[in-house]
Amino acid sequence: MNRSVFVTGGNRGIGAAVAAAFAADGDKVAASHRTGSPPDGVLGVHADVTVPGQVEKALREAEAAHGPVEVVVANAGITRDRPALRMSDEQFEEVLSTNLTGAFATVRAALTSMLPARRGRVVLVSSALGFLGSPGQTNYASAKAGLVGMARSLAWELGDRGITVNVVAPGIIETDMTAPLSERRMEDLMRMTPLGRPGRVEEVVAAVRFLASEQASYITGAVLPVSGGIGMGH
Ligand code: NDP
Repeated sequence: MNRSVFVTGGNRGIGAAVAAAFAADGDKVAASHRTGSPPDGVLGVHADVTVPGQVEKALREAEAAHGPVEVVVANAGITRDRPALRMSDEQFEEVLSTNLTGAFATVRAALTSMLPARRGRVVLVSSALGFLGSPGQTNYASAKAGLVGMARSLAWELGDRGITVNVVAPGIIETDMTAPLSERRMEDLMRMTPLGRPGRVEEVVAAVRFLASEQASYITGAVLPVSGGIGMGH
């Protein structure tokens, strides 16, 4: 479709699959990567989203190659699980600064181009666990729930500029992030998942592509669960 697309955390997992899918659609795709490198056909631009200024610099590099960004996907995220009493300030902050502040820095950088163009698609990658709550994840759930407030505030700010802002809330998806989950925790989570299986990255990609598409032109401030039914809507 030849749009200028920017994805954070595009070197692996959901971000790499999202970037590859847009590229396969014919978009000009840049993906930020802190380590590794993004898939073939995707321009890699280095950024650690927790370092002030880095993601903005990466997005500007992407724009120098592809033109003003039209679709931005804030995907970079981490977990640092620990019961609240044993969670340090650093473990809390690290997750907030990656998943929440990093997403804000990404979107703000994209708005410099989207506002004057009076069009754009913003997709934030949250998590169904942000709404359900999850033991050991006060940091992660706080950040992921925060993305919804962010998206809905931005939807109000940007609606009259033709920019939509939406949230994808994956459930348990098979990536490096969920690989360390114990068998017992996975069984518990699958019992809470009506479809009874983990999701595939392609299933998240489909939702992101839809929210970024022309067909989604009247959807903003929405939370789209891609979760097999764990967390059915908010
Ligand atoms: P992965 O662990 O496979 O990938 C995480 C990505 O985020 C990597 O590219 C990683 O880069 C990047 N990243 C982490 N920290 C930073 C940072 N400081 N700066 C830049 N990039 C960073 O996870 P997923 O693909 O599964 O997760 C992608 C998103 O989906 C996350 O926001 C996650 O919270 C969310 N999600 C995932 C679910 C799942 O079940 N997998 C469920 C719900 C939501 P690097 O390789 O350098 O570490």
